[in-house]
Amino acid sequence: MHDLIVVGGGPAGLAAAYAAYHKGLKDIVIIERDKELGGILNQCIHNGFGLHQFKEELTGPEYANRFIEMIAATEVEVLTDTMVLEVTPEKQVHIVNQSGGYQILEAQAIVLAMGCRERTRGAIGIPGSRPAGIYTAGAAQRYVNMEGYLVGKKVMILGSGDIGLIMARRMTLEGAEVLACVEVMPYSGGLTRNIVQCLDDYDIPLFLSHTITDIRGKNRVESVVVAEVDENRQPIAGTEQVFECDTVLLSVGLIPENELSKGAGVVLDRRTNGAIVYENMETSIPGIFACGNVVHVHDLVDFVTEESIKAGDAAADYVLNQGDSAEGELLTIKNGEHVTYVVPQKVRADQVDKRVELSFRVNKVYDDSLITIQSDGEVLAKFKRTYIVPGEMEKVKLSRKVIDKIHNGEVEICVEEVQV
Ligand SMILES: Cc1cc2nc3c(=O)[nH]c(=O)nc-3n(C[C@H](O)[C@H](O)[C@H](O)COP(=O)(O)OP(=O)(O)OC[C@H]3O[C@@H](n4cnc5c(N)ncnc54)[C@H](O)[C@@H]3O)c2cc1C
Repeated sequence: MHDLIVVGGGPAGLAAAYAAYHKGLKDIVIIERDKELGGILNQCIHNGFGLHQFKEELTGPEYANRFIEMIAATEVEVLTDTMVLEVTPEKQVHIVNQSGGYQILEAQAIVLAMGCRERTRGAIGIPGSRPAGIYTAGAAQRYVNMEGYLVGKKVMILGSGDIGLIMARRMTLEGAEVLACVEVMPYSGGLTRNIVQCLDDYDIPLFLSHTITDIRGKNRVESVVVAEVDENRQPIAGTEQVFECDTVLLSVGLIPENELSKGAGVVLDRRTNGAIVYENMETSIPGIFACGNVVHVHDLVDFVTEESIKAGDAAADYVLNQGDSAEGELLTIKNGEHVTYVVPQKVRADQVDKRVELSFRVNKVYDDSLITIQSDGEVLAKFKRTYIVPGEMEKVKLSRKVIDKIHNGEVEICVEEVQV
C-alpha cells in the first residue's frame, strides 16, 4: 500500500507530489500516460509562465522542468508511459503499461490531476463536409511545436480561447497566413494580454459575435462561411462572408478530464465539470483530492501550482492523521448573480485559520464593478474591481471574520456593475 498515488504528471500532479513529500510522505507514486512528465506545458513553447511562482518569465517546458528537477531530487517514484484505467472509492488504482502489464495499486490517499481536453467539432456541431484540415488548436500546437509539422498555410480560427490566440501567433511566425479569429460571444474567451500580443501585434482581426456556419471542401478544407450572430447566438441571414482557406483551428473550450473521477463516484459540479471540492481540495470521497485543470480550467499555470500545493499538503495531512477527515460546521459557497462558478464549493469552517481563497468566473465583461459576499441577504464583504472578464479567473479572500458572520451555513458570491 502506497502513501499517495498522484494521477497525472502535469504541473498539478508534480506540485502536489512535491508538497506531499515535503510534508512527510515518503512512498508517493506519480502515474503519467505520456512518455514524459510536464503535461500540456511541454507543447507551450511560448513564454509567459512563472511570473507569480518564480518571478521570472519562463516558457512552458522551462516551467515544467523546474518541477521535474525538484521531483527528481526526492524519493518520489515516477511511472511514465502508464495509463490509469480506473480509480475506485476504496483507493485502488488500475494501471496498464508495457513493462508490468495490468496492475492494481493501492494507496491511503489519491490526488487526481488529469488536466483537461479540448472540445471538438462534434461537440459544437458545425455543419458542412468532413475534409482534412480541421484541428483542435491544442492538437495543431502539438504538431507544430513538438512533431515539426506545419498543419496548414491559410488558416481560420474558430473561438478566441487562449490556445486559439496563441496558435494564431505561432502559425503566423511559422509562415502561415491567419485570416481571422472568429468568436461567437461579444467578448473574447482569452486573456487580454494574449489578444494584444497574439492578434493585435500581428494585425489579425478578431470577429466578435460571429461564427462559422459552413465548412466547404472535398479532400481538404477549401473555404469557410462566416456569419454574424444575434444576441441568441443565431446566425443573421445576409451577413455571410466566404473565406478561402485550407485549415480551420478550433479553440472552443476545454473540458476537465473526469472519467476516472466519475468512475470513482466523486461528485462533480455541473458548472465546472470538475469535482466539487472542500477548502483543502478534498473531493466528496475522503482521502481523494483533486487539483489543476481537472477541477476547473485555469488560465495561468502559476495558480495551478498554488492550488496543487494545497492539495498535496492536505493529502499528506490525511495520511499522517490516519484518514481522519475534519468534521465541523460546513459552509456552502454558492454562485450568486453574474457568477458562473466558484471553487471551492464547500468550506469546513473549523479548518480555516485566517482566510480561504475563492476562485470564480463571471458571465460577461464588467468595467467598474463590486464583488460582494452575501449571506441571507446581508452583505458581509465587498471588493472593488475596475475590469472583470469571463476569460480571466478572479479571486477574493474570505477572512475568518467574515466566515464567523455567515448565517445558516450558506454564502453567495455576487457581482454588480457600479457607476463611478
Ligand atoms: C495552449 C495552452 C497555452 C497556455 N498558455 C499559458 C500561458 O501562457 N501561461 C500560463 O501560465 N498558463 C498557460 N496555459 C495553462 C497551463 O498550461 C495549464 O493550466 C496547466 O498545464 C494545467 O496543469 P494540469 O497539471 O492540471 O494539466 P495538464 O498539464 O494537462 O496535465 C495533466 C496530465 O495528466 C495526464 N493524464 C491524464 N489522464 C491520465 C490517465 N488516465 N493516466 C495517466 N495520466 C493521465 C496527462 O497526460 C497530462 O500529462 C496554457 C495552456 C494551454 C493548453
